[in-house]
Amino acid sequence: MNDILTEGLTALSLPIDAAPALARYGELLLERNQTMNLTAITDPQQVARLHMLDSAALLGCADFKDKRVLDVGTGAGFPGMVLGLVEPSIQLTLLDSLSKRIDWLSEIAPQLGISRLTAIHGRAEEFGQMPEYREQFDLVTSRAVADLRILCELCLPFVRPGGLFLAMKGQKAQAEKDAAGRCISILGGQLRKDYVYQIPGTDITHRVVVVEKVRETPGQYPRKFAKIKKSPL
Ligand code: SAM
Repeated sequence: MNDILTEGLTALSLPIDAAPALARYGELLLERNQTMNLTAITDPQQVARLHMLDSAALLGCADFKDKRVLDVGTGAGFPGMVLGLVEPSIQLTLLDSLSKRIDWLSEIAPQLGISRLTAIHGRAEEFGQMPEYREQFDLVTSRAVADLRILCELCLPFVRPGGLFLAMKGQKAQAEKDAAGRCISILGGQLRKDYVYQIPGTDITHRVVVVEKVRETPGQYPRKFAKIKKSPL
């Protein structure tokens, strides 16, 4: 994994000193995956490319240095944990509704040398209404959690005005974007240019939908999850 990561970080113009920690993270992931459902990807080379390098590529999309970053629905830590390993100045918060995954992330963070990590077990739609989290983050990230309209209601309330929501999507994000225009505007966001990248060592192209928070989110959002799902904005 170490060689693939070193080459991949170089291709992404990122510092290679995080490669050993990322490789160790991958090993810990596959080890714990034998007893806990963390990832469907079990080949170490694929873990390096499809989890580690895919997540690291997000660093090319915005300036993450010294930023308060929240990863919503982080699962086994993607992209959040990788961002924290490659750019250690980040003040990182990881949020997931599955306590086992959050407990595991808290357990491995010190082994990987991450000190400034807050790992929270909870639901985005509940934490987004709490004053200590609402509009408190410069950058909010999310990968493989929900359709863009649902995701925006879960994530935009956390972004401070002037900050960005970065939704990691596949190549086919256009249909989701087309449907999300009204919702983004209601929630105080504005679409910016997508960030498109190729995962090093693969022919896979991914797309980050970039939403800037231009106004505060109205207080009634996020709504309860059943409501968000039943009638997305
Ligand atoms: N982001 C990770 C990745 O790309 O590998 C995990 C993706 S996994 C398919 C989706 C994760 O989102 C799960 O771990 C799930 O528990 C979490 N999730 C779904 N809805 C959520 C919500 N409303 N609040 C917090 N976490 C949520």
